[in-house]
Amino acid sequence: MTYSHFFDKAVARLKDERRYRVFADLERQVGRFPAATWHSPNGPRDVVIWCSNDYLGMGHHPSVTGAMAEAAIRMGAGAGGTRNISGTSHPIVELEQELADLHGKQAALVFTSGYISNQAGISTIAKLIPDCLILSDALNHNSMIEGVRQAGCERQIFRHNDMAHLEELLKLAGPERNKLIVFESVYSMDGDIGPIKAICDLAERYRAMTYIDEVHAVGMYGPRGGGVAERDGQMDRIDVIEGTLGKAFGVMGGYIAGDAAVIDAVRSHAAGFIFTTALPPAVAAAALASIRHLKASATERAGQQRQAARAKRVLSLAGLPVMDSQTHIVPVMVGDAEKCKAASDRLLERHGIYIQPINYPTVPIGTERLRVTPGPAHTDRMIDDLAGALLETWIALDLPLVARQEAAE
Ligand code: PMP
Repeated sequence: MTYSHFFDKAVARLKDERRYRVFADLERQVGRFPAATWHSPNGPRDVVIWCSNDYLGMGHHPSVTGAMAEAAIRMGAGAGGTRNISGTSHPIVELEQELADLHGKQAALVFTSGYISNQAGISTIAKLIPDCLILSDALNHNSMIEGVRQAGCERQIFRHNDMAHLEELLKLAGPERNKLIVFESVYSMDGDIGPIKAICDLAERYRAMTYIDEVHAVGMYGPRGGGVAERDGQMDRIDVIEGTLGKAFGVMGGYIAGDAAVIDAVRSHAAGFIFTTALPPAVAAAALASIRHLKASATERAGQQRQAARAKRVLSLAGLPVMDSQTHIVPVMVGDAEKCKAASDRLLERHGIYIQPINYPTVPIGTERLRVTPGPAHTDRMIDDLAGALLETWIALDLPLVARQEAAE
C-alpha cells in the first residue's frame, strides 16, 4: 500500500510509549458470566472477567435475551433504515417513552451509542443556543469533549468537581450570557461522583442550562435505576440527562432525555442521529426489557453494591492500593504503563483473571491502573481469589503495597 509507512510509524510510536492496545479474544457465555472462555494464542482457557461494564449481568438476563431473540425472529435482524427513512421501529418508540419515564422527563431520543448521544447531543444543543458558552468539567469523557469541540462555540474547562472554579467562570460570563454546564455523575476511571445538587444550585443562580452524563450510573443508582440524580432527588433540576443502554442495561445504544422542545430540536438537527441506520428492533426490545426489569427490581443493584463493598474491603486488607472510590468502581493504582500491562498479562496468563489495563490517554500518565468492576454474580470465593492473585502479582512485579492497618481504617 502506498502510505503503509505512515501507519507503521504510528503503531511503532504507540508501542514505544507502551500504549499499543491488545484485545483479549473472549467468549462470554450465558449462564456462566462472569466466568468466560478466553481464546488465548495457545487455545481456549477458562477465565473470570473482572472489568466488564455489563455491571449487573443484564446482557445475559433471560428477560433480556428472551426479548431480543423474540424480537429478532418476529421483526428481523436490522432496522432497515435511518430513523427518518423507515427505521423507527415500534420497540424504539416504546423505548423512548420508557426512558422519558425513567428520568421523569417529557421526552427521550435514542442514538446508536452513548458516545454518539454525547457528541451529537452536546454539539447540537450548544449550536442551537445563540452565543453559547460551554462550561465543561476537566474530567469529562472523550465523547463529551468531542461534543463540546464540535459545538464550535466558546468553552471553558472547570477544575474537576471544583464548585468555586465553576462559580468563578459563571460569574465572569455574567447573567446575560447563555451558558451550558456539561458534567458527569459517576466518573468512570476514579469512581468519584459529581456534585449534582451544587451544580444545579449554581445553574439556577447564574441562569445556565445543565447536561449530565449518567452513563455509569443508569440502572445502578436510584430506586428505579434512574441514576445518581434520581438517588439524590435532583432529576427534575437537570435539563438534559444522557445515558447508555450498553453498560448496566447490558445491551447497546445511548440516549438523551429532557423537555420535549430540546428533544424535538435535537431530533431534527443532529447529524449523528439523522444520517445513520437506527438501532435494530431486537436491540431496542432487549434494552426495553432490561430497563423495565431494573425499574422494578433492586436485587441486582443490591448484589452489585454488596460485592463491590466486599471487594474494596478484601483488596484493601490485602494491602493493595485501592483508590478511594465512592461508587461501584474499584480502581487499583499501578502508576506505570509497562507494569500495568505486565500485571494484567500475569493475572490473565497465570491466574485466569481478566482485567484490562487502563493506560494513557484514558487516564493521565503515571496513574495507570487496573479498574475492577465487581458484579452481583462474582462470588465471595472469586473475590478472595482475586485478592490472592493481585497480591502475588504485586509481589512478583515489585509493586508497592499499602500498610495493612492504614488500609483497614
Ligand atoms: N460517557 C462515558 C462517561 C463513558 O464512559 C462512555 C463509554 N465508556 C460513554 C459515554 C460512551 O457510551 P457508549 O459505550 O454507550 O458509547
